[in-house]
Amino acid sequence: CGIVGYIGELDAKEILLKGLEKLEYRGYDSAGIAVRNDEGITVFKEKGRIADLRSAVDNEVKAPVGIGHTRWATHGVPNRLNAHPHQSASGRFTLVHNGVIENYHLLQKAYLKGIQVASDTDTEIIVQLVDLFVSEGLTTEEAFRKTLSLLHGSYALALLDSEAADIIYVAKNKSPLLVGVADDFNVIASDAMAMLQVTNQFVELHDKEVVLVRKNGVTITNLEGTVIERAPYTAELDA
Ligand code: GLU
Repeated sequence: CGIVGYIGELDAKEILLKGLEKLEYRGYDSAGIAVRNDEGITVFKEKGRIADLRSAVDNEVKAPVGIGHTRWATHGVPNRLNAHPHQSASGRFTLVHNGVIENYHLLQKAYLKGIQVASDTDTEIIVQLVDLFVSEGLTTEEAFRKTLSLLHGSYALALLDSEAADIIYVAKNKSPLLVGVADDFNVIASDAMAMLQVTNQFVELHDKEVVLVRKNGVTITNLEGTVIERAPYTAELDA
């Protein structure tokens, strides 16, 4: 399973699909991407191979921002509905997740009683919580932080807000995730290999940091909100 993301000026689709192909070796049962342009967020997902996802993707949709996922099902059978990305009930937020949220059922009972969920995944609870906290008045970053503070388990996460064109919200805990940096775009990936196609400069992320990835910069903060400076390293690998 794996995660990729791109934010820049080029069309994200091919970069995401190529990245997911590089992560195929990790194993998966389904795959999906979400891309964002001025018309909003479009999700493509399929059970099966990246090749199946490729045929489902509409080439007419061009977008400079996107996230992608290969799923190894832990909660909910492998099918299209349970494949990532997952969206909140309002449609505003879109999320990919690797890992396992151990307390998702408790969180659902405590916070999401009135909310109709669309899938059987632990992941969907995360994106529904972010939407709930935003609807209660928090900013997206505050809602993301509050949600993270409630989660028990492992995660690598990438979140898109349909009302914020220029940010991918990212966090990890006990699951791998890196940021890849370049001059006029940035990327994320579970494994540097997935993004060597576009950069060999990577920034390590630590557990429970909150990371805002924009086209022109990456802001890493700890749970308390203090900004952390961390230099990129050069990945010495063959693409
Ligand atoms: N627990 C999530 C699910 O079953 C994510 C699995 C993964 O790491 O791909 O959908």
